[in-house]
Amino acid sequence: MSDKPVLLVTRKLPDAVEARAMRDYDAILNTSDEQLRAADLIERSKGVDAILTCSTELFSAEVIEGLAPSVKAVATFSVGYEHIDTAAAKKRGLIATNTPDVLTDATADLTILLMLGATRRAFEWGRKLRNGEWGRWSATELLGTDVKGKRLGIYGMGRIGRAVADRARGFGMEIHYHNRSKLNADLEVGAIYHANADDMLPQIDILSLNCPATPETVGFLNTERIAKMRDNAIVLNSARGSVIVDDALIEALQSGKLAAAGLDVFDREPKLDQRYLTLENAFLMPHIGSATIETRNEMGFRALDNLDAIFAGNEPGDRIA
Ligand code: NAP
Repeated sequence: MSDKPVLLVTRKLPDAVEARAMRDYDAILNTSDEQLRAADLIERSKGVDAILTCSTELFSAEVIEGLAPSVKAVATFSVGYEHIDTAAAKKRGLIATNTPDVLTDATADLTILLMLGATRRAFEWGRKLRNGEWGRWSATELLGTDVKGKRLGIYGMGRIGRAVADRARGFGMEIHYHNRSKLNADLEVGAIYHANADDMLPQIDILSLNCPATPETVGFLNTERIAKMRDNAIVLNSARGSVIVDDALIEALQSGKLAAAGLDVFDREPKLDQRYLTLENAFLMPHIGSATIETRNEMGFRALDNLDAIFAGNEPGDRIA
């Protein structure tokens, strides 16, 4: 018997992360990469000291209460943690951590990809090329829109929102934002604050959703709010799908009220609303915000740093419960 803590890793992680987990823990890896359901999590927690999970595993109050008493901590390989019932974790004395910062740049880069994909009609052009429909040059065909000089409204000006703003400034955009709290001038870098998100919507050309999914933000972008947006505005979502009401966004993309959308996340993903797939003006990605080699390694190392601190008797840096 080794004296290393037993660590259940719920999904397949990058090689370098699994190697470190194996070195420092009695790690139980998930080589099949099958998603673990509630009953699996409870069953496999027996004899386990900590769990390194992903956003695909749901730690509801029921699961948390059902975990073996030996489980001290759950570290999620994500910054978003709506899949962990933090109130239930606190009640049970279960420490939970996430991985902020290390995925900020990759997710902001992806948001810019969504913005350029949507504004430059990348889906339509790419499909024409692949279908052999690249015909004679035309001065008027499938024209996109410039981002220079446009107003970008960021809903959720946190780590990722600010990194999106930094990049957008480089494109010559004017930055607007809404948070519950106004930022200090050094973090605003000239961005225009709107204490009420509804006041921001009519003033912007492109809306980027960068908030967490919480009871207050779920369903934020609904029919009423889309009606407040400018005609031909564009919506980007690299936060969580549940922040958008799909019926409202799809209707606005179909009617032409909105010019386009760039979406990385979807409600009930991967079972996204199939109508998105029929929309010419939707530039779609399958939740790849943090999907780079460097970032996925850093996320794993950050989760392990948190667990190392817990087992050394220290406070983990990224405690969420
Ligand atoms: P963060 O630093 O905590 O920023 C979140 C921002 O949202 C904060 O500025 C916060 O400001 C604001 N906010 C929170 N609740 C709000 C509300 N009710 N109304 C308005 N604003 C609100 O988080 P982050 O690291 O930037 O990550 C943001 C989210 O991105 C994550 O929670 C995750 O869901 C998502 N994400 C997605 C991917 C992907 O692959 N697509 C990758 C990473 C992260 P106030 O507290 O002042 O309101």
